[in-house]
Amino acid sequence: MELVFLGTTAAVPTAQRAHPGIALCYRDEVLLWDCGEGTQRQLILAKVNFMRITRVFITHLHGDHFLGLPGLLQTLGFQGRERRLHIYGPPGIEELVERVLSLGEFELEYEIEVERLAPGMRVRGSGYEVEAFEVEHGTPAFGLAFRELKGRRFLREKAEALGIPPGPLYKRLQRGERVVFQGRVVEPEEVLGEEKRGFRVTYSGDTRPVDATAERAGDAVLIHDSTFDAGEAEKARSRMHSTCTEAARVAREGGAKMLFLTHISPRYRDAGVLEAQAREVFPESHVARDLLRVDLLALRKERGWWK
Ligand SMILES: [Zn+2]
Ligand SMILES: [Zn+2]
Repeated sequence: MELVFLGTTAAVPTAQRAHPGIALCYRDEVLLWDCGEGTQRQLILAKVNFMRITRVFITHLHGDHFLGLPGLLQTLGFQGRERRLHIYGPPGIEELVERVLSLGEFELEYEIEVERLAPGMRVRGSGYEVEAFEVEHGTPAFGLAFRELKGRRFLREKAEALGIPPGPLYKRLQRGERVVFQGRVVEPEEVLGEEKRGFRVTYSGDTRPVDATAERAGDAVLIHDSTFDAGEAEKARSRMHSTCTEAARVAREGGAKMLFLTHISPRYRDAGVLEAQAREVFPESHVARDLLRVDLLALRKERGWWK
């Protein structure tokens, strides 16, 4: 389980920062969050296998977040992809993908399924879900909350107290099935406890600081828009972005475990000032950089998170 920052700039690329893109590698899948221009080259540099991309989420339809799609879709075709690709995005995503597919001459052997995001929509995959939530960016825009689904805790002592022997019956109860043991019906409710904690990663997309993000930041690694430093609060407001301090407040109020600042304006050649200002509010703040990898499994081990 790894988080890879592919591009971390705002609007225009720089020598150090490519257009927005985040790869979330979970088991044998890669979820791609935004696909700015140059994303495919960044994937290669980061050694993330394209073929494992199962779902692409476009948070909103500003060019810096989707202009990498035409190239990526065609490259997947060149590489002989057959597996279906899901693309999610705000209203207008269907038309956008249609246009991308009529750009130049090429044919794809794989199917593309396009789905429009709606507030509160949950996309379920194998062992996880991604919830889309509405943010504030002056255009329909979404944040994304990844949550690993591990099921509920099995209360072995309760099963033992009911006299149920360990084995297949435990497995069925754990799956949420009702079983019959010695003529008695045992409901899964009797032996299941709270939901197990899993990995959580929340991405704000481009936005002003909003409650919806904070509400999904609890227990999570939070990736937040941090286009400007604290001194540019007025600019952040008028352009519908966030400052590093506003991002840090969202992380603190939401109870995030760690904060990554991204979507960094090209004006900051040295983004250290953003990190320093954010840390005054939320000590676990880090400025993301291109190709930065965050090993979530290692964090779980080292820090005891999500256990
Ligand atoms: Zn942007
Ligand atoms: Zn934008």
